Amino acid sequence: MANACPCEAKVAYAQCCAPLHRGQRIAETASELMRSRYSAFVRKEIDYLVETLDPEHDDRRLPEDELRAHFRQSCREVRLMGLLVLDAMTQGDTAEVLFHAKRFIRGQNHSFVERSVFTLRREGWRYRDGELYLARTVPKGITLLSFREHFAGAG
Ligand SMILES: [Zn+2]
Repeated sequence: MANACPCEAKVAYAQCCAPLHRGQRIAETASELMRSRYSAFVRKEIDYLVETLDPEHDDRRLPEDELRAHFRQSCREVRLMGLLVLDAMTQGDTAEVLFHAKRFIRGQNHSFVERSVFTLRREGWRYRDGELYLARTVPKGITLLSFREHFAGAG
């Protein structure tokens, strides 16, 4: 599809993540927020990446200009080539999303599986924390439950 959204929702960017990036609406679910952050990395939407980072995320300890520089560098060096949501779970104002991202860093395949944690704030869902492993080390058919069992104590 021409102008397909990078988050692979099979919808045009203009109808998918663009209204989120422009602040015209907010993500209704943690999965939607995750997809929109993924496409924000692809489209270098630095403001959106900063805005949707939870106040309690570790990177918030950085001064904002360093945080922005960090996101800009990631956007420059990392090529995200595909997204697949594997599992998602919401309990009250906390949600977990498990996804596979096809990623290349300087031409090398660094595809990964991440378990992301999100917190629902007054402003909407925010990215709180993430635990990721190279995809080749993650068993096929993994779910949030089996991910936790498989990687208990690791990372
Ligand atoms: Zn999208």
